[in-house]
Amino acid sequence: MKRMPTSLAAALLLGGVAAAQLDVVATIPDLKDIAEEIGGDRVDVISIARGTENIHGVSLRPSHLVKVNKADVLIQIGLSLEHAYVPGLLEKGRNRRIQPGAPGFVNCSEGWEAIDVPEEISRSRGADIHPLGNPHMNIDPRGGRHMADRILAGFLRVDPEHAEHYEKRHAAYVAKLDEAETRWAKLGERLRGKKIAIYHNDFTYFARHYGMNVVTSVEPKPGVPPSPKDLARTVEVLRREQVGVILTAKWSNNKDVRFVAEKSGARVIEIPIMVHGVKGVDTWIGMMDFLHRELVGALDP
Ligand SMILES: [Zn+2]
Repeated sequence: MKRMPTSLAAALLLGGVAAAQLDVVATIPDLKDIAEEIGGDRVDVISIARGTENIHGVSLRPSHLVKVNKADVLIQIGLSLEHAYVPGLLEKGRNRRIQPGAPGFVNCSEGWEAIDVPEEISRSRGADIHPLGNPHMNIDPRGGRHMADRILAGFLRVDPEHAEHYEKRHAAYVAKLDEAETRWAKLGERLRGKKIAIYHNDFTYFARHYGMNVVTSVEPKPGVPPSPKDLARTVEVLRREQVGVILTAKWSNNKDVRFVAEKSGARVIEIPIMVHGVKGVDTWIGMMDFLHRELVGALDP
């Protein structure tokens, strides 16, 4: 979203017109996209993560702190997804308006029923980086609606004067989602029961939604790199179960994935797990379209 030219903004302010936009910090590009859909020209949004980064290990830049310090709204997924950097940003950003519990703090996984909740927190062989359950709700075809609702609620808390603006735009976005979901459901029927392997369990919500069969993950546990023994086991499972496709995000498309693919004869498909995760995927709906298309193309051509 482009800011209006400074001179114009100044003129409006001098003229007494309230032209100020909300400064919004989103943790991932998906949330930036949906916040812009709902906020329109009333919001100026940045995303901390880039779409191709490791979603759990995002690199922070000094400019992020400046943005957090003056932000009116901070939007996160939660469920520990951003645990590596959001607590530090909130502490160093020194901005009460966006602390957890404040009106400007938007937690998109609020009210979301997480899957893969660990039965016990185990410290053996590295900590599970999903201690509260699977946080990758942005890869669930139902996720856009949930995130949009939470973001709308946040904008209404912080800027109730413009409620009508946000509600109207939210309704328009939901109408787009309705249309998209009809399109996706048709493609999803062709994915039922299909066998895949994944690297990290970022794709699990999507797979479950359509009754796909995630046979195994290359990581033995979220965030724990596979040992040679784990890799050998994965190769064996892929061969035995005749799994032809391994899904992986760019950041985890590494030598381990290539190794098990080579040994088992499976094909590696690189998927976006955030908006901008692959070239040409610039919106959340666009990302879902891409995922459905790619998966159907690979599994039911
Ligand atoms: Zn994860």
